Amino acid sequence: MHSKNFPFIIKTSILYGALAAAFSLIGLSSPEADIIGSPLEVSNVTIEHVTGHIVLGMMVGIVTLSLRYFLLGGIFSIILDADHLIQFLGIEIVPRMAHSVSFGIIAIFVMMMVFGKRDYLLGAIAFAAVLSHISYDILLTGTAGFPFFTPFTNELTTFQGADWILMEVGAIILVGISVFISRRKKMEKRL
Ligand SMILES: [Zn+2]
Repeated sequence: MHSKNFPFIIKTSILYGALAAAFSLIGLSSPEADIIGSPLEVSNVTIEHVTGHIVLGMMVGIVTLSLRYFLLGGIFSIILDADHLIQFLGIEIVPRMAHSVSFGIIAIFVMMMVFGKRDYLLGAIAFAAVLSHISYDILLTGTAGFPFFTPFTNELTTFQGADWILMEVGAIILVGISVFISRRKKMEKRL
């Protein structure tokens, strides 16, 4: 592995996880907030679950043809579940807050501001990881609800059946577009 990849992957992953955990705070005063219970009891934390998130995330990251973003695709996708950490506090919360469009958008901005304003691939992976994560949650359970449109509504939006394919394909297209844009920008620079 390229020597700079390792610290980059560690730093970006920590920030992404911290953002996902902190994002839960937005739901605290919501009327939909409730006491959910420890994620170890209410969620099914299995090897299959963890591996599934990583695999679908890497399938998105591989589009970049870069080891760094291939790995980050998988890591961001599993680490998004850091938003479950708030459940340990035993207070009224909206669960799975980071499983949302607005988290994805904030993640693009924060990651690119901190790690590189021209790192389009990082921005795209940060958003796409939300989609690939949700994709596997739907695939695993058959039907799953998320506060997908928070903070506009904290009602859970339910996805089911083949929706997982739309989420995964959407993530792949998004990252594909970012690869195209970053190639073009590099070519423009050379001219
Ligand atoms: Zn999840």
